[in-house]
Amino acid sequence: MEKKDMLIEWLDGADENTEIGYFNPNGQQCGGHCGVEGTDNNQYAYKTECTYCGYVYGTNGSDMHERKCPQCQGGAPGIRYWRIVEK
Ligand SMILES: [Zn+2]
Repeated sequence: MEKKDMLIEWLDGADENTEIGYFNPNGQQCGGHCGVEGTDNNQYAYKTECTYCGYVYGTNGSDMHERKCPQCQGGAPGIRYWRIVEK
């Protein structure tokens, strides 16, 4: 078997609050989603980065505009945003 790097494509969400590069008022930046469902209805889980402390975590698209960092702003724990690779 040929070993391949895992290719993940990060995608923008449907609205401006979930576009890659979006910053919310708390300094949390949207990194897009890779097709993983969030924990809220019909939401994707977005990779989110805190621009204050660098913590990376997952956020439902519906929460992106008001998300706070779990690490330095007392926000809710992140959700899984990464794909689980099947073996
Ligand atoms: Zn932070």
